[in-house]
Amino acid sequence: MNMNLPADVSKIINILESNGHEAYAVGGCVRDCILGKVPHDWDITTSALPETVKSLFDRTFDTGIEHGTVTVLMHGTGYEVTTYRVDGKYEDGRHPKEVTFTASLEEDLKRRDFTINAMAYNESKGLVDLFGGEEDLKAGIIKAVGNPTERFTEDALRMLRALRFSAQLGFEIEPATYQAIKELAPTLDRISAERIQVEMVKLVTSDHPERLRNVYDTGLSKVFFPELDVMLECQQNNKHHIYTVGEHSIVAMGLIPEDKVLRLTMMLHDIAKPACKTTDEKGQNHFKMHPVKGAEMARAFLRRLKFDNDTTDRVCNLVKNHDDRPEISERNVRRMIIRVGQENFNDLLAVKRADCLAQSMYHRQEKLTYIDELERVYKEIVAAGDCLKIKDLKINGKDLLELGVPQGQRIGAILKDVFEEVVDNPSLNDREYLLNRVKDMLQ
Ligand code: ATP
Ligand code: MG
Repeated sequence: MNMNLPADVSKIINILESNGHEAYAVGGCVRDCILGKVPHDWDITTSALPETVKSLFDRTFDTGIEHGTVTVLMHGTGYEVTTYRVDGKYEDGRHPKEVTFTASLEEDLKRRDFTINAMAYNESKGLVDLFGGEEDLKAGIIKAVGNPTERFTEDALRMLRALRFSAQLGFEIEPATYQAIKELAPTLDRISAERIQVEMVKLVTSDHPERLRNVYDTGLSKVFFPELDVMLECQQNNKHHIYTVGEHSIVAMGLIPEDKVLRLTMMLHDIAKPACKTTDEKGQNHFKMHPVKGAEMARAFLRRLKFDNDTTDRVCNLVKNHDDRPEISERNVRRMIIRVGQENFNDLLAVKRADCLAQSMYHRQEKLTYIDELERVYKEIVAAGDCLKIKDLKINGKDLLELGVPQGQRIGAILKDVFEEVVDNPSLNDREYLLNRVKDMLQ
Protein backbone atom coordinates (compact mmCIF):
# COMPACT_ATOMS: atom_id res chain seq x y z
CA MET A 1 0.00 0.00 0.00
CA ASN A 2 1.51 3.28 -1.10
CA MET A 3 -0.21 6.51 -0.27
CA ASN A 4 0.89 9.93 -1.38
CA LEU A 5 1.10 11.99 1.77
CA PRO A 6 1.08 15.76 1.20
CA ALA A 7 4.56 17.18 1.69
CA ASP A 8 3.62 18.96 4.92
CA VAL A 9 2.09 15.82 6.47
CA SER A 10 5.18 13.89 5.53
CA LYS A 11 7.32 16.61 7.09
CA ILE A 12 5.39 16.63 10.37
CA ILE A 13 5.67 12.85 10.62
CA ASN A 14 9.40 12.94 9.80
CA ILE A 15 10.14 15.59 12.42
CA LEU A 16 8.34 13.54 15.07
CA GLU A 17 10.04 10.31 14.03
CA SER A 18 13.53 11.80 13.90
CA ASN A 19 13.02 12.97 17.48
CA GLY A 20 12.38 9.42 18.60
CA HIS A 21 8.54 9.35 18.44
CA GLU A 22 6.05 7.41 16.38
CA ALA A 23 3.66 9.27 14.07
CA TYR A 24 1.06 8.30 11.47
CA ALA A 25 -1.68 9.76 9.32
CA VAL A 26 -4.84 8.23 10.75
CA GLY A 27 -8.60 7.82 10.43
CA GLY A 28 -10.67 9.50 7.73
CA CYS A 29 -7.71 10.59 5.58
CA VAL A 30 -6.35 7.04 5.32
CA ARG A 31 -9.83 5.73 4.51
CA ASP A 32 -10.40 8.36 1.82
CA CYS A 33 -6.97 7.80 0.24
CA ILE A 34 -7.57 4.07 -0.11
CA LEU A 35 -10.91 4.90 -1.72
CA GLY A 36 -9.09 7.14 -4.18
CA LYS A 37 -10.77 10.27 -2.79
CA VAL A 38 -9.01 13.47 -1.81
CA PRO A 39 -9.18 13.78 2.01
CA HIS A 40 -10.60 17.10 3.22
CA ASP A 41 -8.20 17.13 6.13
CA TRP A 42 -5.27 15.17 7.50
CA ASP A 43 -5.14 13.98 11.09
CA ILE A 44 -1.92 12.75 12.63
CA THR A 45 -1.60 10.44 15.61
CA THR A 46 1.65 10.29 17.60
CA SER A 47 3.27 8.74 20.66
CA ALA A 48 4.69 12.19 21.54
CA LEU A 49 2.98 14.07 24.38
CA PRO A 50 1.26 17.38 23.50
CA GLU A 51 3.97 19.51 25.16
CA THR A 52 6.58 17.69 23.11
CA VAL A 53 4.65 18.28 19.89
CA LYS A 54 4.46 21.98 20.75
CA SER A 55 8.19 22.16 21.36
CA LEU A 56 9.04 20.57 17.99
CA PHE A 57 7.10 22.98 15.74
CA ASP A 58 7.25 26.74 15.33
CA ARG A 59 3.57 27.48 14.91
CA THR A 60 1.05 25.54 16.98
CA PHE A 61 -2.34 26.13 18.59
CA ASP A 62 -3.80 24.47 21.65
CA THR A 63 -7.03 23.38 19.96
CA GLY A 64 -7.93 20.56 22.30
CA ILE A 65 -4.83 20.18 24.37
CA GLU A 66 -6.65 18.54 27.28
CA HIS A 67 -7.63 15.79 24.84
CA GLY A 68 -4.15 15.59 23.41
CA THR A 69 -4.73 17.61 20.25
CA VAL A 70 -2.31 20.29 19.06
CA THR A 71 -2.84 22.01 15.72
CA VAL A 72 0.39 22.41 13.77
CA LEU A 73 0.27 25.18 11.19
CA MET A 74 2.17 24.76 7.94
CA HIS A 75 1.84 27.00 4.89
CA GLY A 76 -1.50 28.26 6.15
CA THR A 77 -3.02 24.80 6.73
CA GLY A 78 -3.66 23.41 10.20
CA TYR A 79 -2.93 19.75 10.92
CA GLU A 80 -4.38 18.16 14.05
CA VAL A 81 -1.69 16.18 15.82
CA THR A 82 -3.15 14.05 18.60
CA THR A 83 -1.30 11.97 21.16
CA TYR A 84 -2.14 8.23 21.23
CA ARG A 85 -4.94 7.93 23.72
CA VAL A 86 -7.55 5.74 25.35
CA ASP A 87 -10.91 7.47 25.74
CA GLY A 88 -13.12 7.83 28.77
CA LYS A 89 -16.85 8.39 28.33
CA TYR A 90 -18.05 10.83 25.69
CA GLU A 91 -20.45 13.06 27.56
CA ASP A 92 -20.36 16.63 26.32
CA GLY A 93 -20.03 17.67 22.74
CA ARG A 94 -17.19 16.59 20.56
CA HIS A 95 -14.70 15.23 23.01
CA PRO A 96 -14.62 12.45 25.58
CA LYS A 97 -14.79 13.59 29.20
CA GLU A 98 -11.39 12.35 30.21
CA VAL A 99 -8.63 10.75 28.18
CA THR A 100 -5.55 8.78 29.09
CA PHE A 101 -2.46 8.97 26.93
CA THR A 102 -0.81 5.71 25.92
CA ALA A 103 2.40 4.69 24.19
CA SER A 104 0.61 2.10 22.08
CA LEU A 105 -0.70 2.74 18.57
CA GLU A 106 -2.86 -0.37 18.92
CA GLU A 107 -4.65 1.12 21.94
CA ASP A 108 -5.28 4.31 20.00
CA LEU A 109 -6.69 2.46 16.99
CA LYS A 110 -8.89 0.28 19.24
CA ARG A 111 -10.79 3.31 20.57
CA ARG A 112 -11.86 4.35 17.08
CA ASP A 113 -15.39 3.67 15.90
CA PHE A 114 -15.31 1.58 12.70
CA THR A 115 -12.73 -0.67 11.10
CA ILE A 116 -12.54 1.57 8.02
CA ASN A 117 -11.72 4.54 10.31
CA ALA A 118 -9.14 2.67 12.39
CA MET A 119 -6.19 2.49 10.01
CA ALA A 120 -2.90 4.39 10.24
CA TYR A 121 -0.22 5.01 7.63
CA ASN A 122 3.26 6.41 7.36
CA GLU A 123 6.07 6.06 4.84
CA SER A 124 8.36 3.95 7.04
CA LYS A 125 5.79 1.42 8.34
CA GLY A 126 3.22 1.48 5.54
CA LEU A 127 -0.40 0.72 6.36
CA VAL A 128 -1.24 -0.35 9.91
CA ASP A 129 -4.57 -2.16 9.71
CA LEU A 130 -5.22 -4.24 12.82
CA PHE A 131 -8.98 -4.82 12.41
CA GLY A 132 -9.45 -5.66 8.74
CA GLY A 133 -10.34 -2.12 7.73
CA GLU A 134 -8.94 -2.36 4.22
CA GLU A 135 -10.92 -5.52 3.54
CA ASP A 136 -14.12 -3.93 4.85
CA LEU A 137 -13.44 -0.88 2.73
CA LYS A 138 -13.14 -3.03 -0.38
CA ALA A 139 -16.27 -5.00 0.52
CA GLY A 140 -18.21 -1.83 1.38
CA ILE A 141 -18.92 -2.65 5.01
CA ILE A 142 -19.29 -0.51 8.12
CA LYS A 143 -18.30 -2.61 11.10
CA ALA A 144 -17.61 -1.58 14.67
CA VAL A 145 -14.10 -2.11 16.03
CA GLY A 146 -14.53 -4.83 18.66
CA ASN A 147 -17.87 -5.58 20.29
CA PRO A 148 -20.53 -3.26 18.82
CA THR A 149 -22.73 -3.31 21.92
CA GLU A 150 -19.81 -2.22 24.10
CA ARG A 151 -18.71 0.41 21.62
CA PHE A 152 -22.20 1.95 21.30
CA THR A 153 -22.61 1.87 25.06
CA GLU A 154 -19.40 3.92 25.41
CA ASP A 155 -20.65 6.51 22.92
CA ALA A 156 -24.18 6.31 21.55
CA LEU A 157 -23.44 8.82 18.77
CA ARG A 158 -21.47 6.09 16.99
CA MET A 159 -24.80 4.50 16.02
CA LEU A 160 -25.80 7.54 14.00
CA ARG A 161 -22.25 7.81 12.65
CA ALA A 162 -22.57 4.28 11.28
CA LEU A 163 -25.64 5.32 9.28
CA ARG A 164 -23.93 8.54 8.20
CA PHE A 165 -20.88 6.70 6.83
CA SER A 166 -23.14 4.17 5.13
CA ALA A 167 -24.96 7.05 3.41
CA GLN A 168 -21.75 8.85 2.42
CA LEU A 169 -20.02 5.76 1.08
CA GLY A 170 -23.01 3.69 -0.06
CA PHE A 171 -21.85 0.91 2.30
CA GLU A 172 -23.85 -1.74 4.12
CA ILE A 173 -23.73 -2.03 7.87
CA GLU A 174 -22.43 -5.37 9.11
CA PRO A 175 -25.34 -7.38 10.64
CA ALA A 176 -24.09 -7.59 14.25
CA THR A 177 -23.30 -3.86 14.19
CA TYR A 178 -26.78 -3.12 12.80
CA GLN A 179 -28.45 -5.36 15.36
CA ALA A 180 -26.61 -3.58 18.19
CA ILE A 181 -27.87 -0.23 16.87
CA LYS A 182 -31.46 -1.50 16.90
CA GLU A 183 -31.08 -2.64 20.48
CA LEU A 184 -29.35 0.44 21.80
CA ALA A 185 -31.15 3.09 19.71
CA PRO A 186 -33.07 4.57 22.69
CA THR A 187 -29.76 5.45 24.39
CA LEU A 188 -29.14 8.09 21.72
CA ASP A 189 -31.17 10.34 24.05
CA ARG A 190 -27.99 10.99 26.06
CA ILE A 191 -26.30 12.65 23.12
CA SER A 192 -26.30 16.41 22.66
CA ALA A 193 -28.35 17.98 19.87
CA GLU A 194 -25.21 19.58 18.41
CA ARG A 195 -23.48 16.24 17.87
CA ILE A 196 -26.63 14.73 16.33
CA GLN A 197 -26.96 17.73 14.02
CA VAL A 198 -23.43 17.27 12.64
CA GLU A 199 -24.09 13.65 11.70
CA MET A 200 -27.57 14.34 10.33
CA VAL A 201 -26.28 17.08 8.04
CA LYS A 202 -23.60 14.76 6.70
CA LEU A 203 -26.18 12.01 6.12
CA VAL A 204 -28.74 14.28 4.49
CA THR A 205 -26.18 15.91 2.16
CA SER A 206 -24.59 12.59 1.17
CA ASP A 207 -24.83 10.61 -2.07
CA HIS A 208 -27.41 8.34 -0.42
CA PRO A 209 -29.92 10.47 1.47
CA GLU A 210 -32.38 7.58 1.12
CA ARG A 211 -30.44 5.91 3.93
CA LEU A 212 -32.56 8.13 6.14
CA ARG A 213 -34.86 5.08 6.02
CA ASN A 214 -32.35 3.29 8.23
CA VAL A 215 -32.58 6.08 10.80
CA TYR A 216 -36.24 5.12 11.07
CA ASP A 217 -35.71 1.38 10.74
CA THR A 218 -33.12 1.25 13.55
CA GLY A 219 -35.34 3.26 15.91
CA LEU A 220 -32.92 6.19 16.12
CA SER A 221 -35.37 8.72 14.67
CA LYS A 222 -37.84 7.98 17.47
CA VAL A 223 -35.36 9.65 19.82
CA PHE A 224 -34.71 12.96 18.08
CA PHE A 225 -37.03 13.04 15.04
CA PRO A 226 -40.32 11.28 15.85
CA GLU A 227 -41.97 13.36 13.10
CA LEU A 228 -40.12 11.15 10.59
CA ASP A 229 -41.77 8.05 12.06
CA VAL A 230 -45.18 9.68 11.80
CA MET A 231 -44.51 10.73 8.19
CA LEU A 232 -43.35 7.26 7.17
CA GLU A 233 -46.47 5.76 8.72
CA CYS A 234 -48.86 8.22 7.04
CA GLN A 235 -50.66 6.99 3.90
CA GLN A 236 -51.68 9.65 1.39
CA ASN A 237 -54.67 7.97 -0.39
CA ASN A 238 -54.66 10.69 -2.97
CA LYS A 239 -54.29 10.56 -6.74
CA HIS A 240 -51.24 12.81 -6.69
CA HIS A 241 -49.27 10.34 -4.63
CA ILE A 242 -47.97 6.78 -4.69
CA TYR A 243 -45.90 6.86 -1.52
CA THR A 244 -46.44 7.51 2.18
CA VAL A 245 -45.63 11.08 3.22
CA GLY A 246 -42.24 9.98 4.54
CA GLU A 247 -41.31 7.88 1.51
CA HIS A 248 -42.31 10.73 -0.81
CA SER A 249 -40.06 13.10 1.17
CA ILE A 250 -37.11 10.70 1.02
CA VAL A 251 -37.53 10.18 -2.72
CA ALA A 252 -37.71 13.96 -3.18
CA MET A 253 -34.42 14.38 -1.27
CA GLY A 254 -32.74 12.20 -3.86
CA LEU A 255 -34.06 14.44 -6.63
CA ILE A 256 -32.47 17.69 -5.45
CA PRO A 257 -28.77 18.72 -5.35
CA GLU A 258 -26.84 17.85 -2.20
CA ASP A 259 -27.11 21.27 -0.60
CA LYS A 260 -27.88 21.45 3.11
CA VAL A 261 -30.84 23.82 2.86
CA LEU A 262 -32.40 22.05 -0.14
CA ARG A 263 -32.04 18.56 1.31
CA LEU A 264 -33.41 19.64 4.70
CA THR A 265 -36.31 21.34 2.93
CA MET A 266 -37.27 18.20 1.02
CA MET A 267 -36.97 16.16 4.22
CA LEU A 268 -39.27 18.55 6.06
CA HIS A 269 -41.57 20.01 3.38
CA ASP A 270 -44.53 17.76 4.20
CA ILE A 271 -43.80 17.36 7.91
CA ALA A 272 -47.28 18.68 8.81
CA LYS A 273 -49.24 16.50 6.41
CA PRO A 274 -50.05 13.87 9.04
CA ALA A 275 -51.35 16.57 11.39
CA CYS A 276 -53.38 18.27 8.62
CA LYS A 277 -54.88 15.13 7.15
CA THR A 278 -58.63 14.94 6.51
CA THR A 279 -60.52 12.26 4.57
CA ASP A 280 -63.41 13.19 2.25
CA GLU A 281 -66.57 11.15 1.54
CA LYS A 282 -64.79 9.41 -1.36
CA GLY A 283 -62.00 8.25 0.91
CA GLN A 284 -59.41 10.63 -0.54
CA ASN A 285 -57.08 12.41 1.84
CA HIS A 286 -56.49 16.16 1.88
CA PHE A 287 -53.83 18.14 3.71
CA LYS A 288 -55.14 21.71 3.89
CA MET A 289 -52.73 24.33 5.22
CA HIS A 290 -49.89 21.85 5.58
CA PRO A 291 -47.21 24.24 4.25
CA VAL A 292 -47.94 26.91 6.86
CA LYS A 293 -48.23 24.45 9.72
CA GLY A 294 -45.21 22.65 8.22
CA ALA A 295 -43.04 25.75 8.49
CA GLU A 296 -43.86 25.85 12.23
CA MET A 297 -43.13 22.18 12.73
CA ALA A 298 -39.93 22.38 10.68
CA ARG A 299 -38.83 25.27 12.88
CA ALA A 300 -39.48 23.25 16.02
CA PHE A 301 -37.39 20.37 14.64
CA LEU A 302 -34.51 22.60 13.51
CA ARG A 303 -34.50 24.45 16.84
CA ARG A 304 -34.46 21.15 18.70
CA LEU A 305 -31.33 20.14 16.78
CA LYS A 306 -29.82 23.61 17.41
CA PHE A 307 -29.52 24.62 13.76
CA ASP A 308 -28.34 28.20 13.15
CA ASN A 309 -30.91 30.90 12.41
CA ASP A 310 -29.96 31.38 8.77
CA THR A 311 -30.42 27.70 7.88
CA THR A 312 -33.61 27.52 9.93
CA ASP A 313 -35.13 30.63 8.33
CA ARG A 314 -34.26 29.59 4.80
CA VAL A 315 -35.64 26.07 5.20
CA CYS A 316 -38.84 27.27 6.88
CA ASN A 317 -39.40 29.86 4.17
CA LEU A 318 -39.13 27.21 1.47
CA VAL A 319 -41.38 24.80 3.38
CA LYS A 320 -43.98 27.51 3.81
CA ASN A 321 -43.99 28.42 0.11
CA HIS A 322 -43.38 25.01 -1.46
CA ASP A 323 -46.98 24.53 -2.58
CA ASP A 324 -47.81 28.10 -3.64
CA ARG A 325 -49.28 28.00 -7.13
CA PRO A 326 -50.61 31.43 -8.12
CA GLU A 327 -52.17 31.77 -11.53
CA ILE A 328 -49.33 32.91 -13.77
CA SER A 329 -49.29 36.61 -14.52
CA GLU A 330 -46.44 39.06 -14.16
CA ARG A 331 -48.22 40.71 -11.29
CA ASN A 332 -48.76 37.46 -9.39
CA VAL A 333 -45.22 36.25 -9.96
CA ARG A 334 -43.79 39.59 -8.83
CA ARG A 335 -45.81 39.27 -5.64
CA MET A 336 -44.57 35.72 -5.23
CA ILE A 337 -40.93 36.79 -5.66
CA ILE A 338 -41.44 39.45 -3.02
CA ARG A 339 -43.08 36.96 -0.65
CA VAL A 340 -40.38 34.30 -1.06
CA GLY A 341 -37.42 36.65 -1.50
CA GLN A 342 -35.63 36.95 -4.82
CA GLU A 343 -32.52 35.29 -3.37
CA ASN A 344 -34.60 32.18 -2.58
CA PHE A 345 -36.56 31.89 -5.80
CA ASN A 346 -34.23 29.52 -7.65
CA ASP A 347 -34.22 27.29 -4.57
CA LEU A 348 -38.02 27.32 -4.55
CA LEU A 349 -38.12 26.25 -8.20
CA ALA A 350 -35.77 23.36 -7.42
CA VAL A 351 -37.96 22.37 -4.46
CA LYS A 352 -41.10 22.43 -6.59
CA ARG A 353 -39.53 20.26 -9.30
CA ALA A 354 -38.22 17.67 -6.83
CA ASP A 355 -41.60 17.60 -5.08
CA CYS A 356 -43.41 17.06 -8.38
CA LEU A 357 -41.07 14.30 -9.58
CA ALA A 358 -41.58 12.39 -6.33
CA GLN A 359 -45.37 12.34 -6.88
CA SER A 360 -47.52 10.05 -9.03
CA MET A 361 -47.71 10.53 -12.81
CA TYR A 362 -51.13 12.14 -12.39
CA HIS A 363 -51.03 15.50 -14.25
CA ARG A 364 -47.24 15.42 -14.11
CA GLN A 365 -46.71 17.13 -17.43
CA GLU A 366 -49.09 19.97 -16.50
CA LYS A 367 -47.36 20.40 -13.16
CA LEU A 368 -43.91 20.57 -14.77
CA THR A 369 -45.13 22.96 -17.45
CA TYR A 370 -46.50 25.22 -14.73
CA ILE A 371 -43.10 25.31 -12.99
CA ASP A 372 -41.36 26.04 -16.30
CA GLU A 373 -43.77 28.93 -16.90
CA LEU A 374 -43.14 30.25 -13.41
CA GLU A 375 -39.41 30.18 -14.07
CA ARG A 376 -39.78 31.87 -17.44
CA VAL A 377 -41.81 34.75 -16.02
CA TYR A 378 -39.48 35.00 -13.01
CA LYS A 379 -36.49 35.41 -15.32
CA GLU A 380 -38.31 38.01 -17.40
CA ILE A 381 -39.12 40.03 -14.33
CA VAL A 382 -35.53 39.92 -13.11
CA ALA A 383 -34.19 40.79 -16.56
CA ALA A 384 -36.59 43.74 -16.83
CA GLY A 385 -35.20 45.08 -13.55
CA ASP A 386 -38.70 45.47 -12.10
CA CYS A 387 -38.97 47.01 -8.67
CA LEU A 388 -38.99 44.14 -6.16
CA LYS A 389 -37.87 45.94 -3.00
CA ILE A 390 -38.65 49.29 -1.44
CA LYS A 391 -34.99 50.10 -2.09
CA ASP A 392 -35.61 49.68 -5.83
CA LEU A 393 -38.06 52.61 -5.80
CA LYS A 394 -36.88 55.71 -7.60
CA ILE A 395 -37.64 57.75 -4.47
CA ASN A 396 -36.48 57.28 -0.91
CA GLY A 397 -36.99 58.51 2.64
CA LYS A 398 -34.85 61.57 2.07
CA ASP A 399 -37.13 62.70 -0.76
CA LEU A 400 -40.13 62.43 1.55
CA LEU A 401 -38.40 64.50 4.24
CA GLU A 402 -37.79 67.17 1.64
CA LEU A 403 -41.46 67.10 0.72
CA GLY A 404 -42.19 67.87 4.36
CA VAL A 405 -43.11 64.45 5.73
CA PRO A 406 -41.94 64.43 9.36
CA GLN A 407 -39.23 61.95 10.39
CA GLY A 408 -40.84 58.75 11.72
CA GLN A 409 -43.13 55.88 10.89
CA ARG A 410 -45.09 57.89 8.35
CA ILE A 411 -42.15 57.78 5.94
CA GLY A 412 -42.05 53.98 5.90
CA ALA A 413 -45.82 53.78 5.53
CA ILE A 414 -45.89 56.08 2.50
CA LEU A 415 -43.01 54.27 0.80
CA LYS A 416 -44.84 51.00 1.37
CA ASP A 417 -48.05 52.32 -0.23
CA VAL A 418 -46.12 53.62 -3.23
CA PHE A 419 -44.23 50.33 -3.48
CA GLU A 420 -47.50 48.36 -3.62
CA GLU A 421 -48.65 50.46 -6.57
CA VAL A 422 -45.34 50.05 -8.37
CA VAL A 423 -45.35 46.27 -7.87
CA ASP A 424 -48.67 46.07 -9.68
CA ASN A 425 -47.51 48.46 -12.36
CA PRO A 426 -43.71 48.70 -12.80
CA SER A 427 -43.94 51.53 -15.34
CA LEU A 428 -44.95 53.81 -12.46
CA ASN A 429 -41.43 53.60 -11.02
CA ASP A 430 -40.54 56.99 -12.42
CA ARG A 431 -39.06 59.60 -10.12
CA GLU A 432 -41.12 62.53 -11.28
CA TYR A 433 -44.35 60.58 -11.25
CA LEU A 434 -43.69 59.21 -7.77
CA LEU A 435 -42.84 62.62 -6.30
CA ASN A 436 -46.13 63.98 -7.65
CA ARG A 437 -47.96 60.93 -6.40
CA VAL A 438 -46.63 61.52 -2.89
CA LYS A 439 -47.57 65.21 -3.05
CA ASP A 440 -51.15 64.12 -3.90
CA MET A 441 -51.16 61.72 -1.01
CA LEU A 442 -50.11 64.54 1.34
CA GLN A 443 -52.96 66.83 0.27
P1 ATP B 1 -15.05 13.04 7.88
O1 ATP B 1 -14.62 12.81 6.49
O2 ATP B 1 -16.51 13.22 8.00
O3 ATP B 1 -14.26 14.06 8.63
P2 ATP B 1 -13.75 11.24 9.65
O4 ATP B 1 -13.56 9.76 9.64
O5 ATP B 1 -12.54 12.09 9.57
O6 ATP B 1 -14.77 11.61 8.55
P3 ATP B 1 -14.26 12.58 12.11
O7 ATP B 1 -15.53 12.76 12.83
O8 ATP B 1 -13.53 13.77 11.60
O9 ATP B 1 -14.55 11.55 10.94
O10 ATP B 1 -13.30 11.76 13.08
C1 ATP B 1 -11.91 11.48 12.78
C2 ATP B 1 -11.55 10.06 13.26
O11 ATP B 1 -11.69 10.00 14.70
C3 ATP B 1 -12.46 8.97 12.74
O12 ATP B 1 -12.01 8.47 11.50
C4 ATP B 1 -12.38 7.94 13.84
O13 ATP B 1 -11.21 7.19 13.75
C5 ATP B 1 -12.28 8.78 15.10
N1 ATP B 1 -13.60 9.10 15.72
C6 ATP B 1 -14.32 10.23 15.55
N2 ATP B 1 -15.43 10.24 16.29
C7 ATP B 1 -15.41 9.08 16.97
C8 ATP B 1 -16.28 8.50 17.94
N3 ATP B 1 -17.41 9.11 18.31
N4 ATP B 1 -15.93 7.30 18.45
C9 ATP B 1 -14.78 6.67 18.07
N5 ATP B 1 -13.94 7.17 17.17
C10 ATP B 1 -14.23 8.35 16.63
MG1 MG C 1 -12.45 14.30 9.80
